[in-house]
Amino acid sequence: MGVRIEKRTDTDERTKIYHVVLFDYDNSLYVFFRGCNFACRGCILRSTPWDCHVPEEDARRLSSLDIELLRTLTLSELERIVVATGAERAVLGGGEPTVDPSLPGVVELLKGYGVHTVLLTNGHALDEGLAARLEAAGLDEVCVSIKAVTEEIHERYTGKSNREVLRNFRLLRRSGMGLRAETVLIPGLVEKDEIDRIAAFIASVDRSIPLRIDGYTAIPQAKWRSATPSEVLDAVRVAKRHLENVSCLHCEVPIRGNVVCVYP
Ligand code: SF4
Repeated sequence: MGVRIEKRTDTDERTKIYHVVLFDYDNSLYVFFRGCNFACRGCILRSTPWDCHVPEEDARRLSSLDIELLRTLTLSELERIVVATGAERAVLGGGEPTVDPSLPGVVELLKGYGVHTVLLTNGHALDEGLAARLEAAGLDEVCVSIKAVTEEIHERYTGKSNREVLRNFRLLRRSGMGLRAETVLIPGLVEKDEIDRIAAFIASVDRSIPLRIDGYTAIPQAKWRSATPSEVLDAVRVAKRHLENVSCLHCEVPIRGNVVCVYP
């Protein structure tokens, strides 16, 4: 548990945080922000706005809630969660945290309690200005989810160009924050050859930047099937031709420890 921070001047600022879970194996919070500047066709949040790892009882309770009526947290409410859980790490994801104007305040609050803080982002809005503000607030790491480097695939999947994402990713390497990348193997869209191009792009910035490849999980709202573990491992082999540190996540990788729904 970190040292208590001095009283903040604007702790009642409302964030876009609508859901928080705790992973007890590493005492980390996963923080969900409402809204996104992309419209990915296979986004899991189209299927459910809640963390898919919460216990069944919580999942049943959450499914009865109207997300539109749910109050998002103020900074002081988030602070109470940090104190009560004694969290040591936090992953800010979502949704897309960079659409929340209170994001630097969220990072500052977490860092005031000594929480190692990671931003998971699509990178689109993370330009020099915002990156500098987050670094000054104490952000430790940024993980950019690169959907595709082929512009046509990126636009078809997200509805937006990848120009800013790729530009911002290059710029982030010059910051003092840790930098990682993620991508999703989607059979029929982001295949092994596209993963090859993504890995080559990352290597053109720095071969030592870690990449995690996630196997896509099918949702009813999109046409693509789930990636199989062997397809994911095959993509890892391809990416390793470019990068020193490649890992993966697929449906047969078990979740460690317990997941506790902290809010709502
Ligand atoms: S960037 Fe992430 S949160 Fe936003 S639509 Fe795409 S998958 Fe969903």
